Amino acid sequence: MFKAARVIFGALVLCALGCREESNSPARVAQSREVMGTLACVTAIAPDETTARAAVEAAYARLDDVNRLMSDYRADSEIGRLNALSAGESLIVSPETFYCLQRAAEIAEASGGAFDATCRPLVELWKQAGRQNALPDEATLAATRERVGWQKIGLDAATRRVIPMADGLQIDLGGIAKGYALDLAGEAILATGASAGLVDVGGDVRAVGEHTWTVGVRHPFAAGLIETLALSSGSVATSGNQQRFYMIDGHRYSHIIDPRSGRPTEQAPSVTVIAPDGLTADAWATVFSVLSAAEGQARAAELDGVEVLWIWGSAEQPQIAATEGFTRHWTGAATTQPSG
Ligand code: AMP
Ligand code: MG
Repeated sequence: MFKAARVIFGALVLCALGCREESNSPARVAQSREVMGTLACVTAIAPDETTARAAVEAAYARLDDVNRLMSDYRADSEIGRLNALSAGESLIVSPETFYCLQRAAEIAEASGGAFDATCRPLVELWKQAGRQNALPDEATLAATRERVGWQKIGLDAATRRVIPMADGLQIDLGGIAKGYALDLAGEAILATGASAGLVDVGGDVRAVGEHTWTVGVRHPFAAGLIETLALSSGSVATSGNQQRFYMIDGHRYSHIIDPRSGRPTEQAPSVTVIAPDGLTADAWATVFSVLSAAEGQARAAELDGVEVLWIWGSAEQPQIAATEGFTRHWTGAATTQPSG
């Protein structure tokens, strides 16, 4: 049977109903709110309830900070302001935004360009194609690809100055910022004096402190979970085309772009990554959604602390591949419910 209280999606439901779990010692507080356009749930365990509540508030404040600084939907965010600059103009940004841009560049290089925080023009092109139910023509695709390239962002670490080196550069931290927000929220929980915490934003989670959590991996083709994981410290993030996609001519296109071709990725429809921190898990889940299975498996074997689960196939016959380290987190307790 599906034990709602043992898994994080169960916790999400509890939170959504506004319930709070409060016991004597230690105190545990869980609260759900809408953050970054999705449902979040923050749980804190602390010596007393006041501390646990303060920890939850501190975590939400950090999630809001990241959204305010880095959302590309907001013209007044640092990313919104960067995206309005012409080549050679520049902006000094917060340590948080600068760190994300630096890590995004590192991961772009380490992934052979599969991760690219400048892919926003392509994301927008395919979003519009989905709205119009028509594939973009080759000339427009080629012109849009010309605008993309992570090497076109100049980063001066001494001053935290960001310099777009081409006109029309558009930054999108959608593949990495949520994971970083989880990390900052986790740090804030511990800084408040809580002993442990779990931050869940839309199913991507970060665990901090001394506690073992059970985290669910959503079934990509059916209701319920395909697997549950034991997680003591670290992060789990999933990328895929199940929740966010475009339909063009009856074909489902991923919201994740392969910057090497300029087209939506056609690789595994669901990839889950376990990593020591949220930023790494989030960004590499996006990378492994772009890389072919063979490329991804070779890359995963070289990365320390990064474990991967690939799911493809269908509701009737889901196919699974995982790194050995990933399988060590399996609890074997998952169940699915018939969809529809
Ligand atoms: P995620 O759901 O974490 O895989 O992030 C997907 C989001 O990241 C998309 O909605 C885009 O905003 C952005 N994105 C799409 N393709 C890429 C890519 N190849 N590299 C970096 N970010 C991307
Ligand atoms: Mg990601």
